[in-house]
Amino acid sequence: MTRHDDHHRGVGLARPGKVKEVTSLTNPIVKDLRSLAIKKFRDQQGVFLAEGLKLVIDALDLGWTIKTLVYSKAGKGNSLVEQVAARTIAKGGDVLEVSEKIVAAITRRDNPQMVVGVFEQKLQPLAAIRPTGNEVYVALDRVRDPGNLGTIIRTADAVGAKAIILIGDATDPFSLETVRATMGSVFAMPLVRATEAEFLSWRKNFQGLVVGTHLKGAVDYRTIPYANKPVILLMGNEQQGLPDQLASACDKLARIPQEGRADSLNLAIATGVMLFEIRRDALKLDGGN
Ligand code: SAM
Repeated sequence: MTRHDDHHRGVGLARPGKVKEVTSLTNPIVKDLRSLAIKKFRDQQGVFLAEGLKLVIDALDLGWTIKTLVYSKAGKGNSLVEQVAARTIAKGGDVLEVSEKIVAAITRRDNPQMVVGVFEQKLQPLAAIRPTGNEVYVALDRVRDPGNLGTIIRTADAVGAKAIILIGDATDPFSLETVRATMGSVFAMPLVRATEAEFLSWRKNFQGLVVGTHLKGAVDYRTIPYANKPVILLMGNEQQGLPDQLASACDKLARIPQEGRADSLNLAIATGVMLFEIRRDALKLDGGN
């Protein structure tokens, strides 16, 4: 079998139904898993890596498809790891027991987690997004920074937003760095990819409020009535902000007032400030305090 075939077949070389022990960094399965740090190989196989036992358990509970479970020797005999391994095998996935060195190589970390899962990527089509009620969605124009995207996915999850729409040439939501920054929210937050033209055409049929954020926005973000309608929050690219075509498709262009020397806020921070304002009335502490 050629290396090319390996990639098409995916990281599924261990025989289902048993745990395969792998000790060498040069083992082809390990090479295949290490290649998943690169977008091209993630996309070829349609998979991504998620680190940590809790994350893997949450992902399985949410119905994500696991292809391979990798755990280091430290996980041997751990009843939770064994349960996850059994669930993986029951779903037709492979289980690998490896050295900590191999987990470190796969995840490119010095102190790796005990468990890593290889999951199938999942994106929703834009046509499936039909906002109703007072739902909130986040649309990101050409987001570049993996840490920003991960933080935004986590924050959107925390405020109960319904999906993230990635417009244009965005950083990969399934990169190691982004998935890490989501702290598991990548499994809870539907993700959509769209070109700018697709988003603009979808937007024409959207009946709610599209709020863009812009450093030249004329409206204080706290003065906009967000309640009782679906809201799309549209955020600009880190370097360039929102281009004119997207800005002019907004019902409102909001600005977060600033003081001091900074020209602008970090994209993820600005998104967080906006989301908590939009969801101000909807979010309550337990017990309604
Ligand atoms: N140089 C860019 C510009 O001129 O727009 C700066 C972009 S800023 C780092 C990235 C995004 O965060 C902006 O496009 C906007 O969506 C949002 N943002 C940052 N600070 C903001 C503020 N004070 N008010 C509204 N949006 C802001």
